[in-house]
Amino acid sequence: MSLTLTKSRALLARAEHLLPAGVNSPVRAFRSVGGDPPFIASGQGAWLQDVDGNRYVDYVLSWGPALLGHAHPEVVEAVRDAAGRGMSFGAPTGAEVEIAEAMQRFFPSLEMMRFVSSGTEACMAALRLARGATGRDTFVKFEGCYHGHADSFLVKAGSGLATFGIPDSAGVPAELAKHTLTLPYNDAAGLHALMAREGHRIAAVIVEPVTGNMGVALPSAEFRVALDAVRQHGALLILDEVMTGFRVSRGGAQQYYGMTPDLTCLAKVAGGGLPLGVYGGRAELMRHVAPLGPVYQAGTLSGNPLATAAGLATLRLLDAPGFFDRVDAATEALCVGIEDLARKAGVQVTVPRVGSMFTVFFGEHTVTNFEDAKRCDMGRFGRFHRALLEAGVYFPASGYEACFVSGAHGPAEIEHTLKAMEVALTR
Ligand SMILES: *Cc1c(COP(=O)(O)O)cnc(C)c1O
Repeated sequence: MSLTLTKSRALLARAEHLLPAGVNSPVRAFRSVGGDPPFIASGQGAWLQDVDGNRYVDYVLSWGPALLGHAHPEVVEAVRDAAGRGMSFGAPTGAEVEIAEAMQRFFPSLEMMRFVSSGTEACMAALRLARGATGRDTFVKFEGCYHGHADSFLVKAGSGLATFGIPDSAGVPAELAKHTLTLPYNDAAGLHALMAREGHRIAAVIVEPVTGNMGVALPSAEFRVALDAVRQHGALLILDEVMTGFRVSRGGAQQYYGMTPDLTCLAKVAGGGLPLGVYGGRAELMRHVAPLGPVYQAGTLSGNPLATAAGLATLRLLDAPGFFDRVDAATEALCVGIEDLARKAGVQVTVPRVGSMFTVFFGEHTVTNFEDAKRCDMGRFGRFHRALLEAGVYFPASGYEACFVSGAHGPAEIEHTLKAMEVALTR
């Protein structure tokens, strides 16, 4: 055990008096992998440095946003420049127009959009809009998909068949959760059957077009057809691309798979590390949003000048020729390297990947839904996670998460990572 975490542990002890488990978002507490979390002092490119001076190649990247790596000089400069001109006005700015135009170039399905401050807000608002526009309360989500922490989304299924939602979190009224129907991810037949039976009262079907929040699972062709078909029943298709936007391809999963959503949710990469979310889609639907229409949604810091500056600078850099090809190729090289090392070490892994996201699952089977993900060896993942940390690689502190590669992960970082993997996998 080479890792010294003295200062991190001292901070954690202080934090635990003040913050639940010492953190501001549950997974950061490392409860599912064991050990104590390093407290981060700084990030530069693909690297993190903790308060004890340990350095790690980062595959969490703030859970997605840092597609350019940390502290990209042009993004830092844009934020600095914006900050000097005032941090928030609660009034329209030119930067909001510019970033909306840029977003639309990446996601042509965003005929009209609104900016919010998180993925949670984007999903919450998209659902309210779908309900308001269709006059229906019920909606469908898929087990293992995460759409932020708004009440209606914190629901999972009790069985393989569609069930009325049982809240996944204390504090969610059963009266509300009953409007959330759930199905297994990739259950095309189940979705067709559910829509045939209940379609007339379903406002929307919301989905992660590639899952990240149960680990990476890809949508089958039949599943994508079933998703597209929900419109025949007057329901809306909401693609939650908060994670997959700019990750799976330049234009997200909708570009990669040729899907046409009614509404799209974005955040994470969109704000380049500052709080920025977006929801949008067909103009006719977006005209239901206040003050044009009766669906209320607002935000003191929405379209905030720092967030729009960071977002715009990020989108500009993503337009560099070949950016996505390079980061996708680095991801592919890394994943192939992991599979080779695992084979040599006699460890069963599957490493599903698309664009610059991937998951290392400890199991032989293909993960197509949450049940498959739960059959992977999470005890083994925990030991793997700790061994990587000691070898200078920062992986998500849960086996049910996606890992991310950034434009700053070059050959040296990949090589460092594969060396660490070799140690971790043979252990
Ligand atoms: C992260 C995430 C969210 C929530 O976004 P926050 O900015 O954390 O509120 C919603 N949907 C998906 C698919 C996500 O990955």
